[in-house]
Amino acid sequence: MAGLIKREDIDEVRQRTDIKEVIDGYVTLKGAGLGSYKGLCPFHDERSPSFTVRPQVGRYHCFGCGEDGDVISFVQKLDHTTFHEAVEKLAHRIGFELRYEDGGSGPNREDIGRRQRLLDAHKVADEFFRAQLITPGAAEGRNFLYERGFDRAAAEQFGVGYAPQGWDSLLKHLRGRGYTDPELKLTGMFSEGGRGIYDRFRGRLIWPIRDIAGDTIGFGARKLYEDDQGPKYLNTPETALYKKSQVLYGIDLAKRSIAKDRQLVVVEGYTDVMACHLAGIPTAVATCGTAFGTEHIKIARRLLSDDGSGGEVIFTFDGDAAGQKAALRAFEEDQRFVAQTFVAVEPSGADPCELRQSKGDSAVRDLIGSRRPLFEFAIRATLKRHNLDTVEGRIAALRESAPVVAQIRDAGIRPAYARELAGWLGMPVEEVSRAVGAATKRATQAAPTPPGGGQGLGQGGGQGAGSGRGFAGTAPGVAPLPTSAVLPSFNRPDPRDPVAAMERQALEVALQEPGMLEGETWQRFSEARFSTPAYLAIHEAIRATGLGFAGDPVRWVEQLLQEVPEPLRPLVSELAVVPLPANTPEGVLRYCKDILARLFELQITRVKAEKMGQLQRLDASSDPEEFQRLNRELMQLEMQRRSLRSDA
Ligand SMILES: [Zn+2]
Repeated sequence: MAGLIKREDIDEVRQRTDIKEVIDGYVTLKGAGLGSYKGLCPFHDERSPSFTVRPQVGRYHCFGCGEDGDVISFVQKLDHTTFHEAVEKLAHRIGFELRYEDGGSGPNREDIGRRQRLLDAHKVADEFFRAQLITPGAAEGRNFLYERGFDRAAAEQFGVGYAPQGWDSLLKHLRGRGYTDPELKLTGMFSEGGRGIYDRFRGRLIWPIRDIAGDTIGFGARKLYEDDQGPKYLNTPETALYKKSQVLYGIDLAKRSIAKDRQLVVVEGYTDVMACHLAGIPTAVATCGTAFGTEHIKIARRLLSDDGSGGEVIFTFDGDAAGQKAALRAFEEDQRFVAQTFVAVEPSGADPCELRQSKGDSAVRDLIGSRRPLFEFAIRATLKRHNLDTVEGRIAALRESAPVVAQIRDAGIRPAYARELAGWLGMPVEEVSRAVGAATKRATQAAPTPPGGGQGLGQGGGQGAGSGRGFAGTAPGVAPLPTSAVLPSFNRPDPRDPVAAMERQALEVALQEPGMLEGETWQRFSEARFSTPAYLAIHEAIRATGLGFAGDPVRWVEQLLQEVPEPLRPLVSELAVVPLPANTPEGVLRYCKDILARLFELQITRVKAEKMGQLQRLDASSDPEEFQRLNRELMQLEMQRRSLRSDA
């Protein structure tokens, strides 16, 4: 378990990182007004850009779906990593050395250094293998790819490389880069014999296996030569970086499509992943030398959605016994997951790579389109083992398949499958239902399931609605639509209310240009009375925060986000990012001054009205002093109001 990164260091990384530069790596950004950039939102599908980045305050906000955050949360969401990993990645990017709380439990510097060194060695090896693929010695490797319908561009897209024959090509290369043998042993790229270490991969085609963030953590290698005594596929063994139970080949390329399309396709090999992606199924990944297990399910769930509901996982098995076994094992894993699981089997037994070669891209897409629910697949797989033409065969099939149906925990789906099963068996529904009922009873006695367990078949993945955040759906300069999701204690301010609009504009200025508040303006601003509850709470947070961070807008907004009640954070984020209506620095200055002047004028008008009321209620003859005092105050207020006018 990694220790906590020091708070100051997190702030430092956030502040030093150019959010625009980082986001540019994922989203094409175009200038949109002074200091703002816009692009197509990576979190939802859209045709015109509403994803807005404001580097000055270090934040992004999507006016379409409401996603928002800072550079750390962006990396976290896009790379699907933890907060920790995101900070570490960003720190590494700018060459910042993080410090951890409580060095004892945290990864010490040595560990971090070692991990980075390991990653670097993989990077060097990755480049080495790729460079080898275009050498004369790699003709056999290029042939292999060509025969399977992969041209040079495809090889480059997937980083396919070649490990030369011989014992020490990579060894020499890495030693030449300053790696010691003890270090190299930890990479898993070398085997050890009586005379030291030597290349593990020799005369093989190489696929780099990358983690979700895109760093190479291992390799998969395909045998090419007859005289190679090794297995057809050879992978990196378990190392500090490479854990086969968690590795999914292609995840770095597929992650965004998986999250967007809410679909994950599991194929069996490296070439199948390539074939799928090239054929228009960019959500394909493959396990490496192991079955799809619990750890993979976790990754899949994290990618498909935050709460694990919605989305679909499609397994393509070539229909052989191993594939069926894998599917049935998945069946036993986790029903919430299984309910979203589908199986696509090609009747001819061809895998996606073969299918693409023989019948083209559309055949691959058709295969994925022909998916059936795993429940159905599992039941039918059981039936296949029996001769349904005989009474004995049907009885035996029922005996074996009834427990499979009984395993379906969702009581709403189970009867439907019992009916299906009756149809497939050609038996009366009542008889099958009875058998399923009896099997269910046995199953519940063996392992009680929680009442109402199960999630239902997540049939149509893909239609996951937007995140339904409290303050989603506002476009800059456009009246925000009332959202159905009302915050617990703050109603969405009515944009048609001129006072609310005024208060909003003032907060936009305060959040984005805190420098404007310095000097005597701060006094006026902090005394200003906000009347819209949500804006009032933000104003209070600004007062509580003080101007200490005003010189650093990134930290300023960060501080305010900590200060406001949680449900208001998206609103703060929105106000901090919405473009101000000005195109030049002078224009911004003028606009801010103008807005603040209007805010203060509004204040004065309010206070004046109160004083006037007091004055009218007062009997001038009984308390002449008070009468005079109020009159003086009113005059001063009026002078203030006029001076605001002339300033603006
Ligand atoms: Zn969006």
